[in-house]
Amino acid sequence: MATTKATAHGRHIQVPNTALPSFILKSVFGLPGFRGEQQSIIEHVVEGGDAIVLMPTGGGKSLCYQIPAICRPGVGIVVSPLIALMRNQVDILRQLGVRVATLNSSLTGSERSKAKAALRDGKLDLLYVAPERLMMPDFLDMLDGAQIALIAIDEAHCVSQWGHDFRPEYLQIAELAVRFPGVPRVALTATADRQTREDIRRRLKLDAARLFLASFDRPNIRYAIMPKTEPRRQLISFLKSRLGESGIVYCLSRKSVEETAAGLKASGIRALPYHAGLDGAIRSRNQDAFLKEEGLILVATIAFGMGIDKPDVRFVAHLDLPGSLEAYYQETGRAGRDGLPAETLLLYGMQDLVLRRAMIDQSNSPTEIKRIERAKLDALLGVCETSSCRRQAILAHFGEVMAEPCGNCDTCLAPVATWDGTIAAQKAMSAVLRTGERFGVGHLIDVLLGANTDKIRRFRHERLPTFGVGKEFSRPVWGSVFRQLIVQGAIEVDHDHFGALKLTSVGGQILRGKTTIAFRRDQATRTATAAVAKKAERIELGKSDAQLFAMLKAERAYLAKTQNLPAYVIFTDETLAAIAKARPHSLSELEPIPGMGTTKIERYGMNVIDVVMAFEQPDDIGDSME
Ligand code: ADP
Ligand code: ZN
Repeated sequence: MATTKATAHGRHIQVPNTALPSFILKSVFGLPGFRGEQQSIIEHVVEGGDAIVLMPTGGGKSLCYQIPAICRPGVGIVVSPLIALMRNQVDILRQLGVRVATLNSSLTGSERSKAKAALRDGKLDLLYVAPERLMMPDFLDMLDGAQIALIAIDEAHCVSQWGHDFRPEYLQIAELAVRFPGVPRVALTATADRQTREDIRRRLKLDAARLFLASFDRPNIRYAIMPKTEPRRQLISFLKSRLGESGIVYCLSRKSVEETAAGLKASGIRALPYHAGLDGAIRSRNQDAFLKEEGLILVATIAFGMGIDKPDVRFVAHLDLPGSLEAYYQETGRAGRDGLPAETLLLYGMQDLVLRRAMIDQSNSPTEIKRIERAKLDALLGVCETSSCRRQAILAHFGEVMAEPCGNCDTCLAPVATWDGTIAAQKAMSAVLRTGERFGVGHLIDVLLGANTDKIRRFRHERLPTFGVGKEFSRPVWGSVFRQLIVQGAIEVDHDHFGALKLTSVGGQILRGKTTIAFRRDQATRTATAAVAKKAERIELGKSDAQLFAMLKAERAYLAKTQNLPAYVIFTDETLAAIAKARPHSLSELEPIPGMGTTKIERYGMNVIDVVMAFEQPDDIGDSME
């Protein structure tokens, strides 16, 4: 069976149905192949199936609904919570020749009627809508008159109260299932925990949806974590080798955002502040500059980032400890979405920890939620304190086992000084066992320190042989020992039983003296500092290719500026690098270049070829080249 597919320029092509997704991947998006599970997801949805897609940031979720929407007859409705995010997607898709519109509160009246007319006339492949608009009667009436290819729910974790992005409007999305039966629905998120996943299934009525769970590893992102000693100096040493690249520096407070941005500026580094307290106009100007200019640093509170799809953020630095491992992973995940190498740096101090704990304690959340928040903060701390691979520790928290150390984190690159913690670990674990695996960290430390508390007396724990055997260490050291045991999988936290600690088989091995365990000595060594300062090679180009690459970037900057678009919407660095290497002289030679779809070749192919020719005939532009 074959489908006649109209391209953006009105041509009609006969394509067999099974080949359609690959054909669109190549002709529209200019990409040679699918990544990970994209192909199975897309085929499943094209055939009308529902899907829940869990993929890390930058994993390529968008294609999972964009391609099925183009393949299937009718328009794909995409629910997206953030206007900035929608706008970015629309810019990118328009450049690819996809027929796309948005409906949100930022549109003018005439833009809105244009979008509505296009929907009515069946002239859209994709329509992005804000969730609050979705259930409005006039919008639903419009949809009733249209043919719907699919419904995609982006950032689907917003339906769950579990995370911090809960949006009540998301709860209504389930009603679409009733109103449009038979239309496939895809829910997508980068939040991986089980609770969120279950909430998505239940609250969006996706009972029969197939679950696609990708690995959450981001191999191109390098993790580095250091104790905070002289934050400004540490930051500048990190930034030095990365000047000219786009990056985000996160701070906890508005005040430190302002001070850090000013401090960087004073050191001659171009940096702009961003936080919720800034005047709206300044804030959006700074955000816009970050998106459109190259090599700008944005110093921000976490108010910045959600809804930012900039693919070429090359580094993310945290000057303060994030609130949880989840938050840390999400914030660092904003680096390197384009798949090219990117680096992160987290500076943490004990003061941050005290502050974060106080923030949890003083919040209005129910006790149960506070306990979970404390555990999530502890998980992050455990990753800070680990003496082994950071990535292994992070992924383990998300339930993924990574067999070998990654080779791309600071502890892998510059092994740390450690102390033999086997005896301390045995004491800690024996406290866990002797108290019947029913208690949390606080009480277990009381047992080790021989504390005189009500709880100790009530359970007669002063009679245990473990009572008071840990007086050689302070409470914070024991806290760290327990966190390390959790990170290394020797102990697990039972969240269904009030955070009680339990031994695992790994723990059993250590307790019986079959394995030893090492703990990190926290000092920033010279080798570690050097490893963090050095950046990974972004794009490997010979000298002459690099010159052409620079010329192509200049052309891209011109094309972007004249259309008031971010440079990456025109071409990614990867595309330009491939052009610099291939040196195409004809439009057909552009076809194998990643990112060069039919529309891009039509629009910009000649610009690119002109640059290549000018580069190769330096007579025309002076003899300074080569
Ligand atoms: P997510 O929404 O999961 O964070 P995106 O859909 O924005 O990720 O994709 C991230 C980047 O990866 C984009 O620049 C996109 O063009 C690129 N990408 C996605 N799929 C592929 C693929 N199959 N081949 C090459 N690049 C891809
Ligand atoms: Zn590692």
